[in-house]
Amino acid sequence: MQRRTKIVATLGPATDDPKVMDKIIEAGVDVVRINFSHGSPEEHAERVEKVRNRARAHGRQVGVLCDLQGPKIRIERFKDGKKVDLKEGQPFALDINVPGDGGDETQVGLAYKSLPDDVKRGDTLLLDDGRIVLWVEEVTGGRINCKVVVGGLLSDKKGINLQGGGLSAPALTDKDRVDIKTAAELRADYVALSFPRCAEDVNECRELLRKAGGHGGIVAKIERAEALVSGIIDEIIAASDVIMIARGDLGVEIGDAALPPVQKELITKSRDMNKVVITATQMMESMIESPIPTRAEVFDVANAVLDGTDAVMLSAETAAGKYPDLAINAMDRICREAEKQRDVIRSTHRIDTEFKFIDEAIAMASMYTANHLRVKAIAALTESGATTLWMSRISSGIPIYALTSHVETRRKVTLYRGVYPVSFQSEANDTMMVNKEAVDELLRRGAVREGDLVIITKGDLTGVPGGTNVMKVIRVGEHDVAAV
Ligand code: PGA
Ligand code: MN
Repeated sequence: MQRRTKIVATLGPATDDPKVMDKIIEAGVDVVRINFSHGSPEEHAERVEKVRNRARAHGRQVGVLCDLQGPKIRIERFKDGKKVDLKEGQPFALDINVPGDGGDETQVGLAYKSLPDDVKRGDTLLLDDGRIVLWVEEVTGGRINCKVVVGGLLSDKKGINLQGGGLSAPALTDKDRVDIKTAAELRADYVALSFPRCAEDVNECRELLRKAGGHGGIVAKIERAEALVSGIIDEIIAASDVIMIARGDLGVEIGDAALPPVQKELITKSRDMNKVVITATQMMESMIESPIPTRAEVFDVANAVLDGTDAVMLSAETAAGKYPDLAINAMDRICREAEKQRDVIRSTHRIDTEFKFIDEAIAMASMYTANHLRVKAIAALTESGATTLWMSRISSGIPIYALTSHVETRRKVTLYRGVYPVSFQSEANDTMMVNKEAVDELLRRGAVREGDLVIITKGDLTGVPGGTNVMKVIRVGEHDVAAV
């Protein structure tokens, strides 16, 4: 069985070695993430070109997701790049007036100058992904005087989160606005927006990307407490193509224990709203250093699959880890095994809802038929991939092949659970001949055998997005022109 859950892997120094790049493609990476928090536009361009070239050489389709840095709030630097060792109970201040490289054991500068306006006495600040905890005693001018609650080593440029959320920084920074243009130039299939507060942030990101000539889908990273407020989260999901459960920052803001129910809720909600969802951060964290995952990590990946995620993501495990390909191998085997438990043939998804579009209705009818008739495969002849997105929102163990002549569509569907891109250009005018060509393509790939049932969906007119209006059930072997 093919793996249905998709794997997103972050590129970085550890994957720049051509041998490693080949290995991660062979290991089955579906989408690569370019992290705009690190590296130059030239480095990003080089990585994207390299991965597309190597994917082509392997006959694979790999999507590209450009992840904007966003307003990650950080401290400045310490004198001579030293680390300081903060002790529980000691005073420590964050001060906009301390020079960029002037931090010491008592104070450090702030890269984000409005932080003192956003916090007050009694707030808790979490530094370095929550490893260091500061309690705010008082704010005077640009200086936040704190007491160390949980100490430890603190080094340059570490991130700051406010417990409970509420920092005013807008989602799109000036750097992000420039990076969106880079993402458009790189023909990114997806652009991820960090720290969106509301749907308007997502809309603005989409507008900027379109203005720059980019076609990619917008990924909203859910990593702020205020994004989770009911109503707001629904609007954010509705405005996005993809939701990323960004467990790193989100866990710091809402507390780690709150993450598991939020993950389950966001996955269900996103699928219900016909959106795609990525589960991210620390899934294989120990594999940065170790060739095998911990048991807890094995369960984390498997549970995300059972929750219904479209994709699982690797960050430092592949970008900077010692075993990038082994981390993908581990995810691959865990996903496949977990998927065996969820070969669901009945789904109540949207059983009570009206459909707005003809192609949507065809997609739903196809999945109902596929699950109940036990067909072997679905071949969706698609322009934009929308039919396959609708289909893949329904729980099923049946592979959905997106047959399309558009490379952008083939790359976009790399993220959809259970959907596989197939390059398909029909020469035939005759609709029966098109059916035959589609089934022959599946036969060639070993996706079906003689006697299997296949569902084909397509439009009367090819080349028209949203034009799917036909569902056809065909038995392989009876699919020659005379029989169909
Ligand atoms: P990041 O986002 O890796 O860009 O911080 C993901 C997360 O916060 O979980
Ligand atoms: Mn984050």
